[in-house]
Amino acid sequence: MPEGVIKEISVFTIDLPYSHGTYTLSSGREYTKFDSTIVRITTANGIEGWGESTPFGATFVAAHGRGVRAGIEEIAPHLIGQDPRRVDRINEIMDGALLGHEHAKAALDIACWDIFGKSVGLPVCELLGGSTEMALPLISSIHVAEPAEMRSQVSKYRKQGYLGHSVKVSGDPVKDAERIKSSLADKKADEFFIVDANCGLSAETALRMLRLLPNNLDFVLEAPCSTPRETLSLRRRTDVPIYIDELAISESSVIEFIAEDAAEGINIKISKNGGLTKSRRLRDLCLAAGYMFSVQDTVGSDLSFAAIVHLAQTVPEKNLRCILDPTEMVTVRTAHPSIDVVEGRAMAPKLPGLGITPNLSVLGRPVACYR
Ligand SMILES: [Mg+2]
Repeated sequence: MPEGVIKEISVFTIDLPYSHGTYTLSSGREYTKFDSTIVRITTANGIEGWGESTPFGATFVAAHGRGVRAGIEEIAPHLIGQDPRRVDRINEIMDGALLGHEHAKAALDIACWDIFGKSVGLPVCELLGGSTEMALPLISSIHVAEPAEMRSQVSKYRKQGYLGHSVKVSGDPVKDAERIKSSLADKKADEFFIVDANCGLSAETALRMLRLLPNNLDFVLEAPCSTPRETLSLRRRTDVPIYIDELAISESSVIEFIAEDAAEGINIKISKNGGLTKSRRLRDLCLAAGYMFSVQDTVGSDLSFAAIVHLAQTVPEKNLRCILDPTEMVTVRTAHPSIDVVEGRAMAPKLPGLGITPNLSVLGRPVACYR
């Protein structure tokens, strides 16, 4: 076997309990823990690369934890003997082995980037285009609750230095208008608010919700509707900036949004787009379209956070609004030390690869191994 090629792929699984009890989203969706899949790719010359993929339950996008592992089972044998640093070729092989199922490809792709960085002694962000050296502002994730409780949640994150807040709404226009007004009641000039409907509004409920708000509230509306048609219909009748998220599941879907002039920004979630290679392409498409960015993942632990910071570290400062620290949302840490968070900001580590090493005593034994 030539040196540097993929020799073995090990799969680990771990449940990540939600940090704040029950997470409530539009359409009555509730989550208390997340099924995470972590992979370790080992090369013939002994380099280990790590990646993670953690869907947000089974009802956020078309993915679920067991599906991730079934997808890896389908793909992994095709990657043995391949050079992991040839990331576009790796993705062609993965797409040739399994159509769609991007969440399954994400962990493998991220692990290949980790190996690429370690093999040349550079952080992943340098290989993705180079670090902006910006301290990346974190965004909170405020789940649906009573208006006063959401206001106090925002206040709690504000005290930690967070400048971004993602306020979830339920789909009830009257109650949601109250939630938005309450969450934004203490807004500071340098803060950025996303009102995130997670595809739970119709154009009708969205328009009613927006008409119930004072017209000087400063926020963007993320993922208002569950289809591109409804999103476009709404977008043509409101001047509130729109960010796409759940519907941006592929390069072709994003190209259609750009062609239809359907949005001002994107919430790039790395694992729903199949990993860093495909998210890099989305980054470049969206930069060319003049979009603003929120760089996130569906959820996850330390490896997901590492992938987020390395990609976000390459988005020009004028386009980057915020990033998600998914480790804040779960009670289990899978790597120590991890990414430093200081006063609501994070930066990519300067170490080769992703710059963090998972803790095997937390991950336990692999549930599958391909060689
Ligand atoms: Mg969102």
